[in-house]
Formats: sequence, C-alpha cells, structure tokens
Amino acid sequence: GINEALIKDGDPAIGDELIRTINSENIEKYLRNLTEEPHLAGTPADEKQAKELRDFWQSVGLDHVTITPYRVLLSYPEEGDPNVVELLSSNGTVLYSSPLTEKIINPEENKTGVVPPFNAYSAPGNVTGDLVYVNYGRVDDYQYLQNNKSINVSGKVVIARYGKIFRGDKVHLAEKHGATGIIIFSDPADYTDLNNSRVYDEDWWLPGSGAQRGTVYIGDGDPLTPDYPAIETAYRFAENASDLEFYLPKIPAHPIGYDIARHIMESLDGTDVPESWKGGLNITYRFGGSGTNNMKIRIKISTRNKEVTTYNTIGIIRGQVEPDRYVIIGNHRDAWVFGALDPSSGTAVMMEIARAMGEIKKTKNWRPRRSILFCSWGAEEYGLVGSTEWIEHYTKSLGARVVGYLNVDIAVQGNATLRALGTPLLFNITYEAAKRVPNPNDTEISLGRKTVYDTWMHYLPDENKDRPKIDLPGSGSDYAGFRDRLGVPIVDLRYTYDSKRFHISSYPLYHSVYETFYAVKNLIDQGFKYHRAIGQIWAEMARNLADTVIIPFNVSDYSRTLEELTQTLLQDYNKTLSDNGINTYLLEIAVQNFTTEVKEFQQNINIVNRNDPLAVRMINDQLMNLDRAFLDPAGLPGRRLKRHILLAESSVDNYAGSSFPGLTDGLFEIDKATNKAERWEIVKHHYSVILFTIQSAASTLRDVT
Ligand code: GLU
Ligand code: CA
Ligand code: ZN
Ligand code: ZN
Repeated sequence: GINEALIKDGDPAIGDELIRTINSENIEKYLRNLTEEPHLAGTPADEKQAKELRDFWQSVGLDHVTITPYRVLLSYPEEGDPNVVELLSSNGTVLYSSPLTEKIINPEENKTGVVPPFNAYSAPGNVTGDLVYVNYGRVDDYQYLQNNKSINVSGKVVIARYGKIFRGDKVHLAEKHGATGIIIFSDPADYTDLNNSRVYDEDWWLPGSGAQRGTVYIGDGDPLTPDYPAIETAYRFAENASDLEFYLPKIPAHPIGYDIARHIMESLDGTDVPESWKGGLNITYRFGGSGTNNMKIRIKISTRNKEVTTYNTIGIIRGQVEPDRYVIIGNHRDAWVFGALDPSSGTAVMMEIARAMGEIKKTKNWRPRRSILFCSWGAEEYGLVGSTEWIEHYTKSLGARVVGYLNVDIAVQGNATLRALGTPLLFNITYEAAKRVPNPNDTEISLGRKTVYDTWMHYLPDENKDRPKIDLPGSGSDYAGFRDRLGVPIVDLRYTYDSKRFHISSYPLYHSVYETFYAVKNLIDQGFKYHRAIGQIWAEMARNLADTVIIPFNVSDYSRTLEELTQTLLQDYNKTLSDNGINTYLLEIAVQNFTTEVKEFQQNINIVNRNDPLAVRMINDQLMNLDRAFLDPAGLPGRRLKRHILLAESSVDNYAGSSFPGLTDGLFEIDKATNKAERWEIVKHHYSVILFTIQSAASTLRDVT
C-alpha cells in the first residue's frame, strides 16, 4: 500500500499545539540575551551571535545547522575621526558644532561598541556650502522648489527630514539634483507627540538626541558582486567602476536628531515655507539658499567602505515526504546598535518557533512533509546583503525548490493590529493563520474580536471590506530577493500601531541607540503578548505550507490581483498608451485569458487524485511555477536584477511596492521627457514583454494535451 504520509495532509492539531507551545517568557529571555551588546554587521559581535544561534538551533533539535560567510563591502565611521556637522560664519569661525553621540538616557545604553549615528555608504568628504531645506526630499519636493520658488539645489548642501520614503532615495535624488551633501534629520512632527513632551525612556517617542542610522545604498546585496555570490572566487568590481550595478552615493550624507536640527534649521535664510513643509521645531521654517545670513554649513564625514565578512545562520528541519521542497522562515540578525525592535524582536520570535517545532518533533513525533528552513541573515541593514548573497549563491537550487518565503524583520512596533505585506499566493494562508491565533489584546476580546484576524479586519479592511488589506511589498527587508530573483511568493508580518492615530512613517526610536530591551519590555510590549502572536501566526503559516499535501496557494488571488493591478494601470495610463499607438485591449485580453486558465486550473486542483503522489506532485509543480512564470530573465528596463514583471519596489521609494514597475517607471512624466521618443520605444518593448509573460504564465496552468 501507499505510505499514509505520502497522501495525507499533516494533522492541523499540530498547528494548535504550536500555537499553545510558543511562549512569551522564552521570547523575552531570548530578546534580553540578544540585546545585551551592540551587534552591527561585520563586527565580532555579528559572528558571535551567528554561532550562538547555530548552537541554539542545534540544541533545540533542528536536523542540521550551517553558517554561510560572505566577504562583502560594508561601511563604518572612522574611529577617532568623528562625523560632524558645523555652522560657520562668513570668516570661517565655527558657530556651532554638533554633538558626536546620542546621550545616555537609560543605563542600558551605556555599553561599548555603540556606533555613532551615520549613514552607511555615505561618501567620505568635507563639504561647505549654502544650505537648502527640501522637506522630505521627494521628487515632488524638488519640483515644488524648482517650479514655485525657482530654487536650484545644485552646488548646495540640502537638509531633508526623515519620513515618507526610503532614505537612500533621498540621497540619490539629492545627488541627481546636484547637491554636494545631505543632512537628514528627525523632525519632532514626525518622531514625537507635539502635544506631550514625554519621550524615551518614559514613552516610545524619540528624544532630542536620538538619530536614525541607516544605509543610503539603493541596490540590494554586496555592491561589488552584483548577481553573483561574494564567495572566495568572486570577481569584484572596483568601488568607482562605472559599470557597477548601483552607484554608491558620491556625496556625503549624515543623520541627525532634532536637538541638532534645531540649531541648523534656525540658521536658514530666505523665504518662509508653506504649511505642509513646516515641522514641529519651535522655529520659523525657511527654504534657505539665499546667501543672506552669511553662514555656511559644513559636513565632515569620515565614513569609509570596508571589506568584511558577514554571516548567515541556516537551519533545517528535513521534510519527511518532500525534503527537496523548502518552506523558508527568515529574519535578519544584524542591528545598528542593540536592535531590540529591529531586528532582534523578530530573531527572538524565530528562536522560539525553532524551539517549539523542535519540541513538537520530539513529543508528537512530528516531521513536516516539506523541509522547513530557518534563515538568520547578516547585514540586512546595509542593503539586504546576507539574504541577497545567499540567494545568488544557491540560486539554482532555490529557484527549483523554494515553496514560499515568510519574513519577519521587526516583529512588534506597536500593539494595535497585525499588518502584512505580501504577494497574492500567500494571502489566503495569512488570513487562515490569523483566524486561528487568539487575540493577544484582552480589550479587543471584550469587544467581540476574538482573533488576530478580527482586529486586523477592524483596523485595516481592504477596499471591498471583505478581508484585511495586504499591501504589496517594496524592498524594505530580506523578502525582496525571493520575489525579484526567484519569483517566490513572499510575506512580511509585523504587529503595528494604529496608523490613523499616529501619523508617523516608522516607530519613533527606529535605528537609534534607544531601541533597547528596556524600551520593548516597558514601552512597546509588556508581557511579550504581541511577540507571541506574531510567532503563532508565523509558525502556523510555515506548518500549513510545509504540511498540506496540495500547496495551499490560492490561485484565484493571483488572477484577482492581476486584474486589479491592470485596472489601476489603465485608469492612470490608458489614454497615454492608446494615444501613442499601444493597444491596451491586448493587455486586457491577456489578463482575461490568465483568469480563465486559473479557473480551470483550480478545477484540476479540486479533482486531482490525492491517492496518486505523482499527480499531486504535478499539480504542486504547477503551483510552484506560477509566480516564477512572471520573471523575465532580462529584468526590468534599466533594472536588470529586478526580474518580476508584475511586482517590484518603486523606483522613487524603495519602501513602497510598485505594480507593472517597468511600465510605471517608463511612463512617469514621459510627456515632459527630453528623450521622449527613446522612452516610448522602451515602453513599447517592455509592453510586449508583459503581454508575452502573462500569456506564458497562463500556459503553465494548462493541462498537457
Ligand atoms: N531595512 C533597511 C532600511 O530600511 C534596509 C533596506 C534596504 O536597503 O532595502 O534601512
Ligand atoms: Ca553578490
Ligand atoms: Zn530590520
Ligand atoms: Zn533596520
């Protein structure tokens, strides 16, 4: 007879057992330990934690654990030559010099190895000039300056406030506009409560001395080895090579908190800014740049790029029936300083999932149908470096074997609701898991919202109000390579604050020294209940993906999403496209065909003979190929390593998702472009690639005739 395990779904009771087993006290204990010392990528603490995690995973019963080192280009401030921002008088006297470190507020921050605030991959240098305020430093902000104020930032230093978009895009755009340097500051309007002066360590708001560190590199992976792993035999481009995939910033960039920003913003001359450009500093916000105040700004940056080793720790529970199919759980391990929220909250939860699965393996004699991989990434903060190198290293086997990738970076940044980013095939298992997990919030339960799902639906319903909204991912964490290079379905989970109540772009302490264990335990998640809930959902999703005979992808979510994204595209661009000789009807037809094939494929899934393991594997192969079929090996126009034609991050905001990214980029303000004809040829070429790719994807769903 056929082995039972070959044809039977895993016992869903294992899911209940996992949900019961995941334990808040353990998560708290792991987090305390992980956040004892700074653990910046490429430092000895990074290697030490990689090894400790390996030992831990071995001790809790994973079948095999290995460490994959990569030799990569990271960036650090020069010790003994600190980065500084100064105000100078016309004769060069230093009128103000910024403090070099964040103040110690709580004894927990008082440790050695705290790297001072800096922007990774900033160009080193010493620039002096007039200063211009550029609001959030977005495309629209520069347009406003140019069109309404005739302010050109070329040759000037700019100061932008943090928020709204990825900081790397702020730097890239400043450089494009000819700025010679950029200061990025946390404005009180975006990082404090203006009606309440309480800040860390009394409240979760950013204190005046806190600054947001962070990379300003807009590529993914080690900058010197694009598309290939940074292993011993790797070819490395020169740092200034013109054929580098993504240019490293050529201008100095530096982050500051609002205590420093007040001194600098106060010095701006010129006219007053409009209401929407005003922040929360107790000063008059001006554009600057007029040269009337006889002051100059100076940025001195010693930050340098350095080749170092970073480490991924990879553990596996071998699958019983299909060990060559991988369900991957991932989180980065490196932190700017203590990383109690980013990313160690996620690391602590991932450790607890490994422990719980290890325990259930022993006590219930459970072994998943497919393999479950645990990935702890190094150097995410620098630009998804560890995960991208690993994907590049093992691209052939991962391309063939990965079923889905489940990411948690920051596990908890508030206690209002779950929020998920993800691609369509994983929508449904996210909903199912959230429905199974009890609500960690007693008040919510008393209001009748019994599960995580209920509260999620309450806070974040989608447009049709039939289920919670799952936004399309940008490139803010390690899931990006799985989508862009492998065409694997991805999800990113987090507990978050109520965004209607707090109009902020990130939790206030983000990337500051104040992301301490103290902050998490006292200000963010007392009792670690929300950490536990994230662990329960994450574990249950992995179990479901690993243990269900037919891979639990909801294919109709793919066609529904494709239809919605097509509608949005045509709402915005139907006329422009048609006016330029592009037949948009062909896209609608391709999408309709895809939907028809999806419906028929769903029928095939419903009637497959579950007693025939080969028939099941054939269906599963088609399921696994579906998202992959949207990859174009040539990549998007001008972004050859972004290979998914439907989904990528936005080109002007790395944190935001973008659909039909090649078209949206090509069509952006195409009417105003100087190389209009050339741009239209690229759009037409890419449009034909899209039509072909959708038809190809549809054809993979068809029965063999
Ligand atoms: N998560 C990191 C950040 O926000 C890295 C993002 C990236 O490089 O894509 O700074
Ligand atoms: Ca590489
Ligand atoms: Zn992170
Ligand atoms: Zn981060």
